[in-house]
Amino acid sequence: MQRPVTRQDFDQWIVPTYAPANFVPVKAEGSTLWDQQGRSYIDFAGGIAVNALGHAHPELQLALQQQAAKLWHTGNGYTNEPVLRLAKQLIDATFADRVFFCNSGAEANEAALKLARKAAVDRGFTQKNGIVAFDHAFHGRTLFTVSAGGQPAYSKDFAPLPAGIAHAPYNDLAAAAALITPQTCAVIVEPVQGEGGVNPATPTFLQGLRELCDRHGALLIFDEVQSGVGRTGSLYAYMHYGVTPDVLTTAKALGGGFPMGAMLTTESLAAHLNVGSHGTTYGGNPLAGAVGGKVLELVNRPEVLAGVKERHQWFVEALQAMDQRLKMFKEIRGLGLLIGCELNQNYRGKAKLINQLAAREGLMILIAGADIVRFAPSLIITQPEVQEGLVRFERACRAVAEGASI
Ligand SMILES: *Cc1c(COP(=O)(O)O)cnc(C)c1O
Repeated sequence: MQRPVTRQDFDQWIVPTYAPANFVPVKAEGSTLWDQQGRSYIDFAGGIAVNALGHAHPELQLALQQQAAKLWHTGNGYTNEPVLRLAKQLIDATFADRVFFCNSGAEANEAALKLARKAAVDRGFTQKNGIVAFDHAFHGRTLFTVSAGGQPAYSKDFAPLPAGIAHAPYNDLAAAAALITPQTCAVIVEPVQGEGGVNPATPTFLQGLRELCDRHGALLIFDEVQSGVGRTGSLYAYMHYGVTPDVLTTAKALGGGFPMGAMLTTESLAAHLNVGSHGTTYGGNPLAGAVGGKVLELVNRPEVLAGVKERHQWFVEALQAMDQRLKMFKEIRGLGLLIGCELNQNYRGKAKLINQLAAREGLMILIAGADIVRFAPSLIITQPEVQEGLVRFERACRAVAEGASI
């Protein structure tokens, strides 16, 4: 008999980088999860914009199980069928000609930033190593990506940090223009800042960055780790904006819950990552390739992408109606199924409390900083699940309005 494990064990055995909710989910289907006690939760968190097709999707299960019975891993001394098929799907669906596979968003961004530096060096520009990034950006937790991120709290204790990275305020084209010079090798930007507060870029900002990058010979890198794979109602947010990057990073929903990331780029840039210049043991592993291929096939359909926009309306209309009653939000914003509710000044700092009370009501949500409640549910969440989840959300918000604490 195995010893039963509980939430309390986390506090003893796991490095305390996370503070998970006080229940332990054990199974899930669609957008509903159950904990060890059999209580149900509606999932508006989607594993942080990962479970794009909900939980236990029958076709994803089948793709994983069929591949699991055939071939798990070979290492990159050999290629495999699932990853080749996925690469072709990504190439056919996007601007890209070439794909580098890895296992996470941070790794995809790490590859993109390394590519930008190497492309400049290969072209003989040995001083062209500057990277321009944005305040409140989130690009991952490796030293390079956390340095490119715009939240000093996440990087300052790990100094010395990689040099040559400058930050401008997001959506401030003039500030970016002042930083982008001939010494800039790349500009990295999220088309919609996720962790940074659910802030969509303005079209003029992204268009302006494209022009600045072209003028100064810098690569425009779109970090679509959170905004990609249908999240905004377009397969990738760059399609929504009509601004094409040189490099795009994607992860999170790409594996639908199976760890997988990818960096997409053009033929000419890909050539800089020649044999031996970069790599990862698991990247493009057959299991990830099989699942990723099925995710992309199921998400990249007009009815699914249109469904994301329809669900956006369900959420926003219900949240606006709720706010008429509770008067808690300063703004409800976002694209597709990446939605943020910024709390007004009466409820500043209370996002975490709302999250905790939502869990008590049987609802999983996200926050983006202390003042923003964030939703990133499954792209195919059903209307009854949305309705029931919003009822639970209103109960949690009402409790906060009435002064509840945890
Ligand atoms: C989550 C996220 C990352 C990091 O992805 P990991 O898989 O956690 O490494 C990078 N960029 C953005 C925009 C993200 O939302």
